[in-house]
Amino acid sequence: MSLPDMKWSGIIEAYRDFLPVSEKTPVVTLHEGGTPLLPAPRLAAALGIQSDLYLKYEGLNPTGSFKDRGMTLAISKAKEEGAEKVICASTGNTSASAAAYGTRGGMKVYVLIPKGKIALGKLAQALMHHSGILQVEGNFDAALKLVTEVSQRYPVTLVNSINPYRLQGQKTAAFEVCDQLGAAPSYHFLPVGNAGNITAYWMGYREYREKGKTAVLPKMMGFQAAGAAPIVLGKIVEKPSTIATAIRIGNPASWHQAVAAAAESKGLIDMVTDEEIIAAYHMIAGFEGVFCEPASAAGVAGLAKLSKQGLFNKGEQIVCTLTGHGLKDADFCLQSSQKPAEIVKSKSDLLKALGF
Ligand SMILES: *Cc1c(COP(=O)(O)O)cnc(C)c1O
Repeated sequence: MSLPDMKWSGIIEAYRDFLPVSEKTPVVTLHEGGTPLLPAPRLAAALGIQSDLYLKYEGLNPTGSFKDRGMTLAISKAKEEGAEKVICASTGNTSASAAAYGTRGGMKVYVLIPKGKIALGKLAQALMHHSGILQVEGNFDAALKLVTEVSQRYPVTLVNSINPYRLQGQKTAAFEVCDQLGAAPSYHFLPVGNAGNITAYWMGYREYREKGKTAVLPKMMGFQAAGAAPIVLGKIVEKPSTIATAIRIGNPASWHQAVAAAAESKGLIDMVTDEEIIAAYHMIAGFEGVFCEPASAAGVAGLAKLSKQGLFNKGEQIVCTLTGHGLKDADFCLQSSQKPAEIVKSKSDLLKALGF
């Protein structure tokens, strides 16, 4: 299959045989997925890595993050089951995605977000799609507990990643990587927050191998932010803190599955500091022309950290998932970058600036 081609119409149509859908399922899609797998030779050289490095740029999904893969399926199934209201707790991208897909499916969407802790672009998305935005005083973990309880008792469908259809949809990113590379990679690096994505990728890679589509499995390399690293520390973090808001989570929903993914694949779950995340964030944009949000850079930050140990060899393929688009958190970009250039008053100023 060529990806994405003129006929690309989203992950459910592309991978129907691997997903829990039938002819009766109304497909609610914005043609998500089919995202590019970009070779990153300049970044690899900067990190001193001999292997082939690729970036799976999930920021190019319809709402700017990989959340759309799971949301198309969760919302399609909710519609099939006759849901009229859907709800989620979110650090931002889940609410942006739920708002867009729920609206497209003709449902009312409610999103609970931690007060004042969500990137401006993500809030703007939820606003534009007419969802009911509710702020909670606590953090993400508190918001998730609340929506879970309510959805168990009332006719409102929960579309957080504890909804099993979310991970089923998200696993299609692993299929795409295999289809694009022609094989599974040696290593797959990605950020870990609620730990749904690492769980979903591992599920996808295993299913593709079981169906004979690929021969090998990658090592799954997940990275948490040091201030929000419950899995690495082996205990719940009550007050998670990191600039990478999308992974600011102290009690991941898919904790045990993520540990299993790392163990079964002979990979690992480790942590990176905010400084390491910010450095990677700037390197990806500066060396490869790819703009991702801060949390998205945690996988590459992990790769940078491990590259110092000389683990990676020629002939191996490394894939890093960049989970969300940089424009979602333009505020952070401006805060963490050098001030925009000097003022040009004359042609000679300009020539000087150009180095002539
Ligand atoms: C949701 C999200 C993550 C974390 O993914 P989990 O499945 O929660 O581990 C990372 N980066 C971005 C941009 C996200 O939106």
